[in-house]
Amino acid sequence: MGICCSDQKTISLDLSKSSSRKNIQLIDEAYLASFIRSQDKESIRFSFWPNETVKGTKNNGWKCDAVSLLSNGCQKGFNKANQTQNEYGFFDLSSDFVLCEQCAKAAQDSKNLIQWNAYISEDGIKSAFDLQYFILIRNVVNGAGTYQNANFTIQGAFDFTTREITLNKVNQGEEQQISFKGKLDEYLASIRSKYIRRDGAVFQLKLSRNMLKMRKKEQNFDLLYGSLKLSAHNCLLVGPKLDTQWICDGGRSLFKKCIGGTIDNSHQNGKIRYRCDEHNFDLCLECAQYVYMYDQLSNRIQQKWTGFWIQDSKKSEMTFDVLHFAQEKIYGKGEDEQGIFFISGKYNHSNGELKFRKKYLVKSIVTYKGVISNEGKIVKGIWKIKGENEGELEVNGVFELNRN
Ligand SMILES: [Zn+2]
Ligand SMILES: [Zn+2]
Ligand SMILES: [Zn+2]
Repeated sequence: MGICCSDQKTISLDLSKSSSRKNIQLIDEAYLASFIRSQDKESIRFSFWPNETVKGTKNNGWKCDAVSLLSNGCQKGFNKANQTQNEYGFFDLSSDFVLCEQCAKAAQDSKNLIQWNAYISEDGIKSAFDLQYFILIRNVVNGAGTYQNANFTIQGAFDFTTREITLNKVNQGEEQQISFKGKLDEYLASIRSKYIRRDGAVFQLKLSRNMLKMRKKEQNFDLLYGSLKLSAHNCLLVGPKLDTQWICDGGRSLFKKCIGGTIDNSHQNGKIRYRCDEHNFDLCLECAQYVYMYDQLSNRIQQKWTGFWIQDSKKSEMTFDVLHFAQEKIYGKGEDEQGIFFISGKYNHSNGELKFRKKYLVKSIVTYKGVISNEGKIVKGIWKIKGENEGELEVNGVFELNRN
């Protein structure tokens, strides 16, 4: 006999009417623990729960699961055992999940659910998660939300004794799942977990029932107002100042082109610049912001890189003041026997392939192509310098970069 049958025939006693303690004591244990569906056959399918729940009674002393679900806990105070004799609840018959009638109604409005806040951080840059719901009931973990314009679901497992949790995030329409492993705090109110990608990038997923300290990533690296010391130049850059008739050195000495889009000095309305008078060096706001962010990240992560390049079996060492891989971009400043250089480029974190340009202060440009591997600790590849004049052969060799 299915346990969902309302017309249980074993005992002809209508428990919903009878509250006689004496009668109940006569009923055997098995019956006490069995479910009796309500006459109205009501059922609810919650957005956050995988199975349908059905209304009924079950006199096994159940506690209402709203304590882990609703921000105000159980509305009827069913938090201890044996308070629910003949009380209606909405039961998931394939698990232990149950909400009392009042909480079941409240749980249909997502505003009443415990709100979890979440972010993912990569290299210390936090990005907010938009959670539609997140529930942690006994060992069941279930959530859904949006991150970087993709809808995702989270399912996982929780171990009550160790408080260890696994959160498997799957984007809608994708098969690949990302597994964050972590731990809940003793109040079961916040989760710290992380996932390490093949290229060594560390992603931290933090969830909390309280507000999280979250700042937008742009704010996180806002330029301080006033003059700047950046890896891009040895002197203090004085600014910010709105000026016309100047060209950004971001495009000439650091990047392939100026990030702020200055290609000549014809910006009629002026552009903000940071300037060193002595060396006639200028950076636009956008280029300065970019360098500032990578300087900050490099400082924060404290990874130190060294490397070498080989030409005609002669090895030349490279040292770096700054070298940082983040958001599929590369920025660095270093030195070798040829002098001080800046590098900027891109990498692809799905296959580890990367490409960057190395610009010496004296204008020669070397192109590097390689692959990052070993959890982001080694880059190997080839470099080349194009012949300056027609018919001139290119010079090339291999290189390697190593992270501590
Ligand atoms: Zn309740
Ligand atoms: Zn200077
Ligand atoms: Zn610029």
